[in-house]
Amino acid sequence: MKMELPTPVLHSLFALNAAGYESYVVGGCVRDALMGKEPFDWDITTSALPEQTMEVFQDCRTIETGIQHGTVTVIIDEMPLEITTYRVDGDYSDGRHPDRVSFTRSLTEDLKRRDFTVNAIAYHPNVGLVDPFDGQKDLQNSIIRCVGDPSTRFSEDALRLLRGMRFAATLDFCIEETTATAIHQLAPTLSGISAERIAIELEKLLCGNNAPRILTEYTDVLEEILPCRLDSPNLAKRMALVKATPLSRYAALLFDTSEETVTAMANRLKFSRHFTEDLSALIRHKAIPISNERAALLRLLHHLGPVLSKTLLEIRAVYDAKDYTSLQKQLDDLVQRDACYRLSRLAISGNDLLDAGFSPGPAIGTTLQRLLEAVMDGDCANTKTDLLEYAKQKSLC
Ligand code: ATP
Ligand code: MG
Repeated sequence: MKMELPTPVLHSLFALNAAGYESYVVGGCVRDALMGKEPFDWDITTSALPEQTMEVFQDCRTIETGIQHGTVTVIIDEMPLEITTYRVDGDYSDGRHPDRVSFTRSLTEDLKRRDFTVNAIAYHPNVGLVDPFDGQKDLQNSIIRCVGDPSTRFSEDALRLLRGMRFAATLDFCIEETTATAIHQLAPTLSGISAERIAIELEKLLCGNNAPRILTEYTDVLEEILPCRLDSPNLAKRMALVKATPLSRYAALLFDTSEETVTAMANRLKFSRHFTEDLSALIRHKAIPISNERAALLRLLHHLGPVLSKTLLEIRAVYDAKDYTSLQKQLDDLVQRDACYRLSRLAISGNDLLDAGFSPGPAIGTTLQRLLEAVMDGDCANTKTDLLEYAKQKSLC
């Protein structure tokens, strides 16, 4: 079997060989290539020690990414390649990190420490595939199976539970029975894993095509890491219907909960401020009236802006079991035609009101807000004269 490798990858494999070391591409890239997918990045495993790798690539830019774990990043033709020394992990007394790693001269030993059989295949153009744990067979049958005894492997590093579920969700695979049983049994051990590592895997899991099935089959495991129950009716079905982006999938996951739950989730998983604000805004306005009336759409834009408004429409379409495609188009139209849904688009400013004799103070702000509402509701045209006239008539200040 011949695998197409990018030139920089071939170059680095042969450069290591020329210096007397073994080298293979390994892990996710081999898995993806065997599935006919373009690998996202290429990882290389080698018998060379980190210092030896640095020496082989002394004319290239190298970064000591995780030298104590044996990883050196080499940049060849602008392509970063992670080159890691064959490694055996020591004991995992904390269920997260090996107490120490030791380097080995054996490729099989290195493959043995890897999490799943489909991630434990190596390839070299002159050798072909090295697959001591029958990863290819599991790939063909769409199965996620631990390398070795699942309970032992999950007890070493509990993140692997979530990684297994993530691969099943993104690759559309099933989890082999003893691996699945161990995941359910060891779910409480996820509490020892850092928020950052959990958040990365969870986001990928939720965006997987198969996320709804994993959500249904592994509710108990996910509830260990989420600050809410996943018991809303049809939750998985709804998730399947929204776009596979982190914001849409998290919003669908939390749609039946409150803003407090979003805050708890954001704190627990250390979401970025920007992401938390977007998610909170969606949940805060989840029940906003939606109709094809211009006023309703402008109010939606007023509260959420163009991007989040579209996300909310997308989720509400699923929730309300309605087709909001034409509303999406109307929304685009309003934005393109510079419709007024923000104070900054109002044809009048606070200074204009002062010039017209309104008294200074906080009432100016309230007046502007009322004027904006009048424009959005179609009660007043967005021109300075009309707005001043409207404010005077209604004695807004
Ligand atoms: P992705 O496509 O998301 O990058 P990947 O399989 O390449 O998936 P990485 O996190 O990039 O995942 O890890 C590269 C390889 O390192 C894996 O394929 C696996 O062989 C090994 N690996 C990564 N994390 C672990 C872990 N926690 N335990 C054991 N092996 C791991
Ligand atoms: Mg990878």
